[in-house]
Amino acid sequence: MSVAFLKWLPVVDEDLCTGCAACVEACGPKSLEIVDRVAVLVRPDTCGSEEHCIAPCPTTAIQMAWVEMDGDKNRGKWRAELSRRRTCSGQPRRDTNARESRMREGNSRANATGLNVHNTV
Ligand code: SF4
Repeated sequence: MSVAFLKWLPVVDEDLCTGCAACVEACGPKSLEIVDRVAVLVRPDTCGSEEHCIAPCPTTAIQMAWVEMDGDKNRGKWRAELSRRRTCSGQPRRDTNARESRMREGNSRANATGLNVHNTV
């Protein structure tokens, strides 16, 4: 097992996001942008984990989650966690929560930047 660093970050469900930009406007450090009509966390390193982007969303498309990443531990909320990527049987962990799974896959733009969502709330 190894230690992974997780940061408390907003994760967007692309199926629910309408691209209204309310979250973008609420974000002080401008960590979010609208890309192809969907909110994307383009600068997770600047996010202060303050959750100002959550309440303005009219469709509850954006939720906070612990996301594996590296970066400045003085900016935002962080925690360290032992990385358990496999079950006792040696098989990769299955997603049991459909919405969580959709958020992981739906936020593929964020994943493309190297983000790895561990869990929600
Ligand atoms: S506030 Fe919600 S619906 Fe509007 S862009 Fe942000 S995540 Fe999408």
